[in-house]
Order: sequence, then C-alpha cells, then structure tokens
Amino acid sequence: MTEMATRQEVAEAQWATTLRANGRRVTRQRLAVLAAVDLSPHATTEDITASVRVELPDITVQSVYVVLADLTGLGLLRRIETPHSPARYETRVDDNHHHAVCTGCGRIEDVDCAVGHAPCLTPQWPEGASPMTIQIADVVYQGLCTDCR
Ligand SMILES: [Zn+2]
Ligand SMILES: [Zn+2]
Repeated sequence: MTEMATRQEVAEAQWATTLRANGRRVTRQRLAVLAAVDLSPHATTEDITASVRVELPDITVQSVYVVLADLTGLGLLRRIETPHSPARYETRVDDNHHHAVCTGCGRIEDVDCAVGHAPCLTPQWPEGASPMTIQIADVVYQGLCTDCR
C-alpha cells in the first residue's frame, strides 16, 4: 500500500511539473484523468470517465475527451488505436512499445520494442517512389491469448 501511494505521489509531481512547464494549470480533472489512465493502462474514454467519476461525479464525457486530447498533445498520454476497438490511452509514453491484441477477447498486452524509439522499422522504397521521412512505424500484433487458445 505504502509503495503504491509513493509511486502515485511521484507520478503526480511529474505530471504537475509537465503541466506547469506547458502553461497548464494543475487541476483536479487533469490529475484524476492521468491517475485513472495510470492505474488502468489501455483504458478507453468510457473506462476513464467511469473511473474519474468516482472522485469527480459531475465531470462530463465531453470534458474527459477534451482533457485526454490535451494531455495526449502534451505527451503525458499516448493514444493507441487497435483493431476493432475505440481509442485507448496509457501513461507509458516514452519507449515506443507495441501492442498485442487477442482476436478472441480483445485483451491487450504491451510488447517491448526491440529498438526502443520510433521509427523501429524503415521501409524499402520501391524504384520511382518519393521516399518520406518516417516518424512512426505502428506495429500491432494480433493473436490468441492463453485463455482463448
Ligand atoms: Zn483472449
Ligand atoms: Zn501499452
């Protein structure tokens, strides 16, 4: 329990620093959204709203959307798009990790990136193509989890 509280406090202090550095006020809404995503990685907006409402019963889904978009823009959250699923959010932002999705039950697991920074794949441009500067290679593994196998 003590360890959890400490980790949460450290995280909150870092979020507050980043928010202030970007000219944002450190509000209960922003901290509650960050804490909800931190406790439940790969949460959907619906999950996050339900979790934030325990503490802030009056927050609207629209407000949660706005906060999520802003925090994602600041780099505090990473938004992930997986097949057949609404957007999900996580606080593990800095390591370019990938995701494995179970095609049976939809559960999502983190998969470490062998390279650790984006892009971890570079395309072989065909003759005559106009090569782009690649920023991100989105890798999504799909398969069956142990429960669904
Ligand atoms: Zn499964
Ligand atoms: Zn993840």
